[in-house]
Amino acid sequence: MDKQINIQEALDWYIWAGVDATCAENADLCIAKEEVLKQPVSPLSNQKNTTYSPAARQTTDQSVSYILKNAKDVCQKAQSLEELRNLLVNFEGCNLKNTAASTVFGDGDTHAKVMLIGEAPGADEDRQGKPFVGRCGKLLDKMLNAVQLERAKCYITNVLPWRPPGNRSPTDDEIAICLPFLKRQIELINPDFILLLGGIALKSVMDVPDSISRTRGKWLDYAISENKNAAVLATYHPSYLLRSTAQKSKVWADLLRFKKKFEEVA
Ligand code: URA
Repeated sequence: MDKQINIQEALDWYIWAGVDATCAENADLCIAKEEVLKQPVSPLSNQKNTTYSPAARQTTDQSVSYILKNAKDVCQKAQSLEELRNLLVNFEGCNLKNTAASTVFGDGDTHAKVMLIGEAPGADEDRQGKPFVGRCGKLLDKMLNAVQLERAKCYITNVLPWRPPGNRSPTDDEIAICLPFLKRQIELINPDFILLLGGIALKSVMDVPDSISRTRGKWLDYAISENKNAAVLATYHPSYLLRSTAQKSKVWADLLRFKKKFEEVA
């Protein structure tokens, strides 16, 4: 029984830490807790229990605002997508980078009229360094083909350029820190239309109070600059569709709406 608990704990830890593949035939998950506990502890851990006061918490918040300001300053320096990609690759302000294998920047036609924004890379995207190349990507390709929108003529990116460990939901701080890079990408691509895939993309880009199920299918405006707005439509994320096929008809309706307006303007 004890052994089973250890296996469960170890698996939970691995999943939390983003380990989703074994690199040895013999995955020895039963790491004896007793062995770990025998290891010497650092002097700090010998101190009495530390209580984290609100001041300590405030320091964390201040450091987030500092990183955020830094991210905004860094992004404004980028005069091209290539510059922005390099700045992002060298940016050390987001903890997600530490566990990700690649920085997944946007991909596609850099002069596209249509920009698609998802949430964050998954395991396949992390491995290949490109957005929407895994199972969700295959479904996205089918969705685009169904309304004759060529993927090669779109620009596709994510709110987060790094895969959250174990595909967990990104935190508000992680989103806030990565957002300046996404916003600068939008400015540099300067699309006429934006399709937001899922609730995280919707909340991050548009800051709307309503959920994705209430907002999907409704046209919104995103101010790219003083004299340019992009028409924005949100729909469900392909990963949600893979789990809830019953929602397919709604996404189909959203895509038709998107295509119709695109054709009217083009
Ligand atoms: N899901 C996303 O939101 N983005 C990807 O790139 C892949 C899966």
